[in-house]
Amino acid sequence: MQPKDTTSQQAYKGFTNADCPFIPCHQGVKREFNCLFCYCPLIAFECPGPYRVYTDKHGLRRKDCSRCRLPHDGYHASWSFIQKWLERPRVWDGREQSEPYRDAGRAR
Ligand code: SF4
Repeated sequence: MQPKDTTSQQAYKGFTNADCPFIPCHQGVKREFNCLFCYCPLIAFECPGPYRVYTDKHGLRRKDCSRCRLPHDGYHASWSFIQKWLERPRVWDGREQSEPYRDAGRAR
């Protein structure tokens, strides 16, 4: 049992750092802007994106997540999205996305 299972208070799901000089760092967020996942827990795992792939100065393949709103759009929605995709994480192998982004909340 987790502490979150014993409370109806759900502030742990997100917050907005209105003083951050970069906000809004991702355009198009419609709900509360969730800063909790500023460094996305899925960066090293497969995810629905949308992301682009680039090679950094060390020759490593990395995701460019500039267009992704999934970890940020709404406290509850983004929390649920991250939990869902971390249930059975699969390490990202550096490939481009194999299918276009459709529905972030879809079951896998
Ligand atoms: S594309 Fe979105 S969900 Fe995937 S790692 Fe980047 S920020 Fe996270």
